[in-house]
Formats: sequence, structure tokens, C-alpha cells
Amino acid sequence: MTTDEEVAEQLVLFSDYLKKNSLKMTRQREVIVESFLRTNGHLSVEELHRLVKEKDASVGFTTVFRTLKALTDCGLARETDLQDGRTRFEHVYHRPHHHHIVCVDCNRTIEFLSPELERLQEMIVAKYQFRTVRHQMQIFGVCPDCQNQRPSPQEVFDSDDVFARDALKIAMEAERSGVNFYLAAAEQISRPSGRATFLRIAEEEKKHLHDLEYEWLELLKKDKNILKAPVFLHFDYDALKKIFPTREEIKKRLEGDLDEEQALKLAMEMEVESYRFFREYAGKFNDTRGKAIFLKFAAEEEDHWRTIQKEYDRVMQRRVH
Ligand SMILES: [Zn+2]
Ligand SMILES: [Zn+2]
Ligand SMILES: [Zn+2]
Repeated sequence: MTTDEEVAEQLVLFSDYLKKNSLKMTRQREVIVESFLRTNGHLSVEELHRLVKEKDASVGFTTVFRTLKALTDCGLARETDLQDGRTRFEHVYHRPHHHHIVCVDCNRTIEFLSPELERLQEMIVAKYQFRTVRHQMQIFGVCPDCQNQRPSPQEVFDSDDVFARDALKIAMEAERSGVNFYLAAAEQISRPSGRATFLRIAEEEKKHLHDLEYEWLELLKKDKNILKAPVFLHFDYDALKKIFPTREEIKKRLEGDLDEEQALKLAMEMEVESYRFFREYAGKFNDTRGKAIFLKFAAEEEDHWRTIQKEYDRVMQRRVH
């Protein structure tokens, strides 16, 4: 959902752009931009014109079209061709890059993003030594409702919110794996000081998990329908399994030898892998809330790594003396 703040921010950007091009922000332009920014989805000029006319009947179709073109030049809108014979536009500002699956019968549009797919595309383009300027991917098909002659829902979601939803889901899952790791490792350590360290970090991870859960609830409060939105960010959950050892793996790796040093080493490895993975992952996205969620998570993991590193050094010092 576009907040008042975001609308105001974009209006400033747009009026700066107009000034540079010796144009003025008129009341009509303002109404058009506001209506556009406050409506999610892939709006056709006709649809936007209809919305604008409810607020100001004097605005003509051509003015709406020209304003959308200007917004596109300014970098606040993107023309999206869903091949239904209409020129459509969608938001760009702080919105994640994405692709579309479009139903040729009902026009329902699913937005998705897959970093793996992006990487493959980049590899192929590099082979031809092209410098990418922009790219679009649209897949046309028939949605399950149209395949079964059912009425299809036409809900439209804000891609930034849906991206944030998916990012939170991934971060929560990673956080849960972290909690499990520290609790399981604490069980395996006999030395009380070592156990205390692991329990303390488990508590910290739980606190972070609560923060993420709070953010999740806030998102649902804003739009409880958001859970119905199709998956936007396609994430390989197996990647988490590679970073966070399972309870069985921890037991196996620490078995017999209830060594604090070993456990700390294992924890360090995990935290390093986790923060490197999430920092790199965050780097794949443009400036969005989803990206911010991954970056914050990475920073917390790096913090844990430092805490454990300190503890490890302390244990090693104790050994030497
Ligand atoms: Zn359909
Ligand atoms: Zn889109
Ligand atoms: Zn792409």
C-alpha cells in the first residue's frame, strides 16, 4: 500500500522533473499522479482516466496518457505490455523488479521474482556481450479458474508488500533454525559456562524472531488479504538447510566429545555462512522493504558471529593459561 509519505515523496520527484523540462505541476497532473500512485496493479490509461474523472471531471484522456508518459520518463512508472491491446502502467518507485504470468482469458496477472532466473538471464546476456538496459518477461497462459470455467478473483496486491511478506517468511524461518541450533547445541555441552553462552544467543535469536513476527502482524493489519497473494519471491528453502545444521547433524557432529570449543566453531561457521548468504542475497534486489529485511537479518547474524568469536577467543585463552 502506498503511504501518504510515499505519495508526497514521489510528487516532489515528479515536480522536480517537470521543472527541469520547463513544465508545471498543475492541479490536474497532481490528481492524475495521486490516483495512479494510490492504485496498485497494472492500470490501463482507460482505467486511470475513469478513476481520475471521479475526482475531476474536466481531465481528458490525453492529459492522463501524457502524464503517465511523463511519469515513466521520470522513472516513477513503467509501461507494461500484457498484450491485451491496452497501454498499461505500474509503479516503479521502491517496488521490486518482477516478471508477469498473465491469463489470456481473464487478464489476471501474477507477479514473481526469482534471483536464480535473473542470474541465468545475466549469464546468457553476458555470452553475447550485451549491456542490459532493461528486461521484461511475460508468460501468457490460462489460469486454473479459467481452465475450469470458474469465475476468477481479480485481486490486486502491492508488490512491495508481498515481497516484504515473503522476505519476512524467509527471515523468520532462518531465525527459527538459528534458535533450534543454539538450543540443540546447548543440550550437547556439559560445561555450564559454554551452555550459558548458547542459551543466551538462543534468547537473542528468539527476540529477533519476535521482532520479525511483530512486523509480520503489522503487515497483516495493513492488509489481511495479503496472505492470499501468490508467492512473489521464489526462494530455495534448501539453501537454509545448507546453512543451519539440523538437530541430528548437531548431535552427530558434537557426539561423544562434548566440547565447547567444537560447538563454538560450529556456531561461528553457521553465523558466517548465514550472514554472507543473506548479505549477498539482499544485494540481488533494488531498494525495497524486502531488501531491507534481508540486510537487517544479515547484520544481526554478523553480530552473533562477533559474540561467538569473542567467546571462542576467551575459551582458547583459558586453555593456554
Ligand atoms: Zn483466467
Ligand atoms: Zn507488475
Ligand atoms: Zn527480471
